[in-house]
Amino acid sequence: QHADTACQIKTTCPYCGVGCGVIASVEGERVTHVEGDGEHPANFGRLCVKGSALHETLGERGRLTTPLVDGRPTDWDTALDTLTARLQVIRQQHGNASVAAYLSGQLLTEDYYVANKLFKGFLGTPHLDTNSRLCMASAVAAYKRSLGADAVPCNYEDLEEAELVVLVGSNLAWNHPVLYQRLKVAKTRNPLMRIVVIDPRVTDSCEIADLYLGLKPGSDALLFNGLLAWMAATHRVDTLYVEAHTEGFVEALDMAKATAGDIATVAQACDLDPERLETFYYWFASQLHVVTLYSQGINQSTSGTDKCNAIINCHLAGGKIGLPGAGPFSITGQPNAMGGREVGGLANQLAAHMDYHLPGALDRVSRFWSTQTLAAVLPEAPGYKAIELFDAIERGEIKALWVMATNPAVSLPDAARVRRALNACPLVIVSECVSDTDMLAYADIVLPATGWSEKEGTVTNSERRISRQRGLLPPPGEARHDWWIICEAAKRLGFGEAFGYAHPWEIFDEHARLSGFENEGEGKRLFDISALVGLGHEGYERLSPIQWPVTANAPHGTARLFEEGVFPTPSGRAHLLPVTPRPPEQKVSDAYPLRLNTGRIRDQWHTMTRTGRAPRLMNHRPEPYIDVHPEDAATYGISDQQLAVLAAPHGRYRGRVRVANAQRRGEVFIPMHWSDVHSREARSGALIEGLTDPVSGQPESKQGAVSLAPL
Ligand code: SF4
Repeated sequence: QHADTACQIKTTCPYCGVGCGVIASVEGERVTHVEGDGEHPANFGRLCVKGSALHETLGERGRLTTPLVDGRPTDWDTALDTLTARLQVIRQQHGNASVAAYLSGQLLTEDYYVANKLFKGFLGTPHLDTNSRLCMASAVAAYKRSLGADAVPCNYEDLEEAELVVLVGSNLAWNHPVLYQRLKVAKTRNPLMRIVVIDPRVTDSCEIADLYLGLKPGSDALLFNGLLAWMAATHRVDTLYVEAHTEGFVEALDMAKATAGDIATVAQACDLDPERLETFYYWFASQLHVVTLYSQGINQSTSGTDKCNAIINCHLAGGKIGLPGAGPFSITGQPNAMGGREVGGLANQLAAHMDYHLPGALDRVSRFWSTQTLAAVLPEAPGYKAIELFDAIERGEIKALWVMATNPAVSLPDAARVRRALNACPLVIVSECVSDTDMLAYADIVLPATGWSEKEGTVTNSERRISRQRGLLPPPGEARHDWWIICEAAKRLGFGEAFGYAHPWEIFDEHARLSGFENEGEGKRLFDISALVGLGHEGYERLSPIQWPVTANAPHGTARLFEEGVFPTPSGRAHLLPVTPRPPEQKVSDAYPLRLNTGRIRDQWHTMTRTGRAPRLMNHRPEPYIDVHPEDAATYGISDQQLAVLAAPHGRYRGRVRVANAQRRGEVFIPMHWSDVHSREARSGALIEGLTDPVSGQPESKQGAVSLAPL
């Protein structure tokens, strides 16, 4: 599209939830250079090492460029005809709920919207979930329980305006590097700013910490219950705020007192020094402008939702929300984890932040989509969340699965079981960009999809900011956009009338209209971007980054939520939740005596299908590894750089040992990126049980139990 021309195009980075703006230099059909977009409010020109290597990950090598049916290359018509014919046979024989979709925070909002509309609205199955379930489902559930909506109250500027920033369960320096850089600069500019890092591991984020609390894994809820009890005991609760804007304080405090006890008790239970713990409590309680930023270290737990609520309780009790530099701030892992939530990409949602149980929601969405005119019926109850979905496939209940832009054969816990389920599933459809992903081994039908630099659409970052991702290059070979693939399938299934989009802007327009559809008066939904209706193609092309809600009253977006102390709950008040701390479900034992932690590394993204293509990114950590405390290494007779194996009840992991003082004794850490296409027995998911949070369905990926032995 830009042959013989050189130009610069603004787009966004496809990796983490910071959502940095990127300016790509394009010459002919090549991206020659990328740099940070100085005008994008997420990064103001900064990029991390992954973002600055984006152009090095492009090229046709390793790309999927042809549809495949039963392993044989074919054309689009044959692939889509076969797909829809097989899907229809399964629906007719086994019912609507026998088909399912598993999506990804890598999809653009427009792709997500049409996938959700097809599966829930027209195929009539509730079983559509997403890999965002592995990332921030607990944070979503906790926001909804306490604030009444899945709504991040803060923005990135709040991190810079805070007097105290608490990083808990977040290695910001590696996983959201540009935000870390912003925080570092803010601390330099404001010497009074304090930063506390709460994490079982000493990470690079500790470089800017005034206080580090290396707590026992899984004890976060207890630590924050202790904080709530301490605030009450030392008269540091903002009683005016609590009385005017919240409910449930007494019950939450009673539970906090009953479960946490005094400083010494909490410190012992969390394995912390009491003086350091009290310092943190004092700093938190005595500052109004506090941001607590949390991520997968909190969310990926069988009590993740409760942990998030324990944090939010403390903010509500102190009135530390709805102000500049204050609030509980969940930061998402993926570039569009939030955009997926906006369109109903989680199995417990219908669309546009409407859950199934919301009065009138089924009827409203059905009327908006005109499902009845095409004899379609929306499902009446939520579908299976990610782990449940693969359990249902293994049981034979779900017979057809369409996976888009994700690699569950690697990324889900108990990966061996997931692979058994995929092997047994009668129809597996995979939409994918790359040809060497593990999922292709299980696919009956493979659909070559476009990737970053080819796609057009929008994403929403961790501060609710909607940004455009723009196409830079023509798609290679026969690769097609995900939204086009879904719409072509819908047409063949007889739903063409509802899927006649010619361009993503038309999908975005419909999404914006649905957000404002019958959205007024009592029960008004917070997610509303109706002021973006009618942008047209040109307005969509020019769309500047903007934070939702975007309404007639807030046409330029909304930087911060709950400034008036009014919440989208029936009473208008925020809820404090009584939290009973629970230890990890995966127990260490004589057979599996070490606590396993998993996570990202600085220069890689997910299962390395893209970042693995850039040699300079591979140089940072070129092979799978195991971080081990020196005393554990001595106990198991393993030296630094030696190969070793971790074993859990359902799998093994091989890696090179790095003896690291950053580890607590009795705990090991492994990266989550490697898969079988890179290295044998290096999948972290092989070691994690498929145990989930009962509220959010998020797996306990951070707290496995393993044995260690030299290889
Ligand atoms: Fe920004 Fe995250 Fe991309 Fe790095 S990976 S450039 S921090 S969006």
